[in-house]
Amino acid sequence: MGKNKVIFYLIDGARPDILTKLADKGDLPHIKQHLIEEGSFTKGTTCFPSTTGPAYLPYLTGTFPGDHNITGIRWFDKRAFLKDGRWARNSMRSYCGYEAKYFNDDMNPKYPSLFEEYDDGINLYNMVTKGVKEENDVTKEGKTGLYFNAHFKHRHHEVDRAGHKKLMESLDRDSRFTYAVFPSIDWDAHTYHYDDPKTTHQAYKIVDESLGELVQALKRKNEYDNTLIIMASDHGLSSTHSHLDLGKFFKKHKYRVLEYPTILTLRPNMTVFISGNSFASLSFLDKKEDYTKSDLLSNHGESMNDLIQQEAIDFVVVRGAQNEYFLLNNEGESLIRANNQKLSYHPITADVLGIGEKENLNFQECFDQTLETEYPDALWQCHQLMQSPRAGDVAISAANGYDLRDFWEIPEHKGSHGSLHWEHMHVPLLTNQKNHISEPKRTTEIHPIIKNWIDQ
Ligand SMILES: [Zn+2]
Repeated sequence: MGKNKVIFYLIDGARPDILTKLADKGDLPHIKQHLIEEGSFTKGTTCFPSTTGPAYLPYLTGTFPGDHNITGIRWFDKRAFLKDGRWARNSMRSYCGYEAKYFNDDMNPKYPSLFEEYDDGINLYNMVTKGVKEENDVTKEGKTGLYFNAHFKHRHHEVDRAGHKKLMESLDRDSRFTYAVFPSIDWDAHTYHYDDPKTTHQAYKIVDESLGELVQALKRKNEYDNTLIIMASDHGLSSTHSHLDLGKFFKKHKYRVLEYPTILTLRPNMTVFISGNSFASLSFLDKKEDYTKSDLLSNHGESMNDLIQQEAIDFVVVRGAQNEYFLLNNEGESLIRANNQKLSYHPITADVLGIGEKENLNFQECFDQTLETEYPDALWQCHQLMQSPRAGDVAISAANGYDLRDFWEIPEHKGSHGSLHWEHMHVPLLTNQKNHISEPKRTTEIHPIIKNWIDQ
């Protein structure tokens, strides 16, 4: 038997309930046998915002987006913008275009990636490549063409099939860690529906077939028992029926809005940055420091109150005094207070999270007591995100069924993620080894499990 290895299938956008349904129907025979029956299958929670890229960080570094100051697939840094101007390196970011290459440098060096810890690590299609050696980024060649066809011609599945081939070829490299992204479930769910039999279900089946071949190959090489296979996703998706374009909304309120891709707006006085399309952060440029609730409502109360009344907005998060965050919805407000690594939650005029009063919950209790609520892990997730100034003055969690972009959305999205709603927060966590990930967990907790397996 060789050394201990981890092969990680990141099945982007997979939902635990859809995976269960397809496995029960017999559509995912390999996942059912090797993972669900012979290994383990449980539910996890991702981070806020629940969006591709930032939501890979918990797996790869064991920490949340707020810890890395990477608060979305797009972010705006008010301090840097007001101090150094629009074109400064750290004033704003969109990882969707050419700035994707800055992602690695933007990460907090305090939290090294698994590729920095295991320098033979193999990468497939993952944008977080910090520490990956050039020759180990095995899908780099040909990726642009495949992604172009996927995005503009909806030829999604070719990408996963090509990735699978590369995954099988890479087994001969005898690497300790492999991170393989299968992107089509997410793409199909955005383009069609998260539960579409003709497209999205097929993407699950491609993953299943890949696993079947991988298990066979590992057994043939006598490496199955020392390989920990993990299969997990970075977020779920919900179905989108309506769009509220936040940029347009604030333009109607007479703001000069800076947003992607129109970052040339003259003398902007506010910014709208959207991720996944059900998460947004807003910054108001008339105040240098972060806004707190009372100042925000006295200076921008009219637009904020109108915003909160919109059906598309589930709730917004704003700062109070230090380590206090207010959640506002169309019924009223609740308060989250952090004290000594414990969080309390107080409904004031409304119970925004629907969990009742909570007093001094530690990290684990925050998870356990909210896992099966409407907004899993919302207390800790609001805290970790709002610690970062790049979360903006206002963080927005969209209502299910809505997203926050319209005009710039090409092609139109039929599914979205990014919010704190359970449909976006719950992720499947599967392994081939019994008792390794048997209890529900945050995605950050997978990181030490990977390290322990390789290092044992
Ligand atoms: Zn994703």
